[in-house]
Amino acid sequence: MANSVDSEGMSHDKQGERMTNVDIDYIRRAVQYSDLAALRVAAYQASKDEELRAFGPVKTLTPEDKEALIEKLTNLLHEKIDSLTLNVPTDDELKDLMFVAFGQETNTAEDFAIRKELLSFKDWPFLKFWPEGMGKKDVPKDFSVAIIGGGFNGIATAVQLEQLGIPYTLYEKRHELGGTWSINKYPDIRVDTMNASYEFVFDIKHKWSEYFGRGAEVRQYLEDTTKKQGVWPHVRLEHALKEARFDETAGIWHLTFSKPDGSTVTSQANIIVSASGLFANPKKPQFKGQENFKGMVVHPTEWPVGMSLKGKKIAVLGNGSTGVQLLKVVAAEAEQVYVCQRTPQWMGARDKYGAPMEPEIHWLNENMPGYWNWCRFTAIMHLFSYHQDYLIPDPEWQAKGGGISPMSDAVRDILITYIKNETNNRPDLYERLIPDYAPMLRRPIVDNDWYKTLTRDNVELITEDIVGLGENTIKFADGTEREVDMVVTATGFDILKYLWPAEYIGRGGMNLHERWAEEDPRAYIGMMVPNFPNLFIMYGPNSQPVSGGVALPTWYQMWAGYVAMAAMHMFKNGHKTVEVTEKAFWDYNNLMDEEGRKLALVTDKNQVESNYYINKDRMQVNCPWEVKQLFAMFNELKHDDLDFA
Ligand SMILES: Cc1cc2nc3c(=O)[nH]c(=O)nc-3n(C[C@H](O)[C@H](O)[C@H](O)COP(=O)(O)OP(=O)(O)OC[C@H]3O[C@@H](n4cnc5c(N)ncnc54)[C@H](O)[C@@H]3O)c2cc1C
Repeated sequence: MANSVDSEGMSHDKQGERMTNVDIDYIRRAVQYSDLAALRVAAYQASKDEELRAFGPVKTLTPEDKEALIEKLTNLLHEKIDSLTLNVPTDDELKDLMFVAFGQETNTAEDFAIRKELLSFKDWPFLKFWPEGMGKKDVPKDFSVAIIGGGFNGIATAVQLEQLGIPYTLYEKRHELGGTWSINKYPDIRVDTMNASYEFVFDIKHKWSEYFGRGAEVRQYLEDTTKKQGVWPHVRLEHALKEARFDETAGIWHLTFSKPDGSTVTSQANIIVSASGLFANPKKPQFKGQENFKGMVVHPTEWPVGMSLKGKKIAVLGNGSTGVQLLKVVAAEAEQVYVCQRTPQWMGARDKYGAPMEPEIHWLNENMPGYWNWCRFTAIMHLFSYHQDYLIPDPEWQAKGGGISPMSDAVRDILITYIKNETNNRPDLYERLIPDYAPMLRRPIVDNDWYKTLTRDNVELITEDIVGLGENTIKFADGTEREVDMVVTATGFDILKYLWPAEYIGRGGMNLHERWAEEDPRAYIGMMVPNFPNLFIMYGPNSQPVSGGVALPTWYQMWAGYVAMAAMHMFKNGHKTVEVTEKAFWDYNNLMDEEGRKLALVTDKNQVESNYYINKDRMQVNCPWEVKQLFAMFNELKHDDLDFA
């Protein structure tokens, strides 16, 4: 539900949608269930009640003070909620409110710039709009954009273009939209970041059933968004891009799609936005003897939805996000489960993970001005970290025998205690579960009772290497084997296969996959490659910041905004193409590699040779920039880096 917008582009909750006739007990429950830090600052913003400010940040409160704050907020909402409106703050007021929320000054102008957008008091943050005097009328006749992929990124781009009135078609190879959330239907799949941060800012306050949305609900949300935002009529399902070939004379891309019946369809577009997903190609290990195995080998992307696991003996390989999500449900149903672990992972609990969202919280979202915005802010700031805290080694600390840094070691200690508690202090388990590298060097994982599940009678943790499959067994390096009738390979995705298997042929017949085979998948700001004019990659090589996020959907909107800026610049100056220069591409990539080498996740000796984050000696998914730096890169075109023609 977008808010209404006044003449200054500022949003206000729609009074007409308020539902304030609830009793004080209902309100008290709402306050108790709430994100208290968010509610306190939202209530202060709306009421300017100085008593709220005087409490100080919620994380510093004693239990008694917390109770007093709950009582204060309950009474305030009970007495005044009808009169509270969203006072959209000036920049100075906003800085002050951020201080009220966390008790910390916002360090720099760049930090403030992105935090302000994240709060989303203005509608359509991150997306771009026509400059003064320009509009739809400036789009050249017959101009069109082809968006490849109907996941979050494709949909973000489509909404951006829809807003501007730039013609586009969104092609999706599957029978439905949703991307990741359509492809993955394994047990207990859900997001591991809070919904408030995993929503588009143009479709907020969705009535999620749980705080961390389940996969099917996220998929439905995406489809509903396309319908609400007018994108649906531009969607072509069951169109798999097979080849995109650039026509240098005409300055357009020729596209060939395959259909499920084997036929092909052709089309053309001025710009291609390839949003075909980082997780499009499952990694499926091949086992020695697999041809004689009588059971099933299943990658989670091919989960046999509805199949009973009762009486089954199952080996689960992989303890990344997917393996960790599905284990609890699999172990509760199967007769016996063998958890095969190669490398231990750092996992932690996340508050409200798996918990239903109470109706009282939906009520707060709808009725308490600013509550959603501050919830989003606290959810995102929770994900946010600075390099120096976890990734840049502190030599003084190391000289005293410390690990990477004091913060890194503190988190390590907390997580070790957590692992021991969850495994009932069983050394036979926890000694094999504690990683020998520091936290945050790999993607942190949210524990879906994975450690607890290992303590079940029908679950065995195995850390021996797998050497093959027998007719009905899985075999290990120590010579033992276990009887199994199903092997779940939660072994992830081949993430280096960006845009695979579609072929992209650029200037002079250059093949993108051949170029990348020689020099690793690389792109300028994760999006552009020389000799491939008018091709923008969403979630391309090194496109997410390693310092933690501002939640991925925020980046998707920024990337969409970048494409829009480039297109509008072309229209303004009568250009047909935009392309990154070879020099800018290499300057960017060399600097990125140099900065990357300062971070412990590239240099740490305890790291295995290669993992999801690292390929040989460089990062592959992440980039070393701080969030604010990356935000600045996507916020404007660097004309010296780009050739417009
Ligand atoms: C199991 C799992 C859990 C995740 N959980 C989280 C989470 O909790 N929080 C988070 O922030 N992120 C999470 N992610 C990352 C998640 O993938 C992204 O947040 C987001 O969904 C990516 O959107 P996308 O549009 O880039 O790609 P996708 O969602 O992968 O969509 C790409 C689409 O392109 C289509 N496509 C591919 N090739 C072609 C072609 N040649 N022609 C036409 N269509 C094509 C695909 O079918 C797909 O529908 C998770 C990923 C996985 C795999």
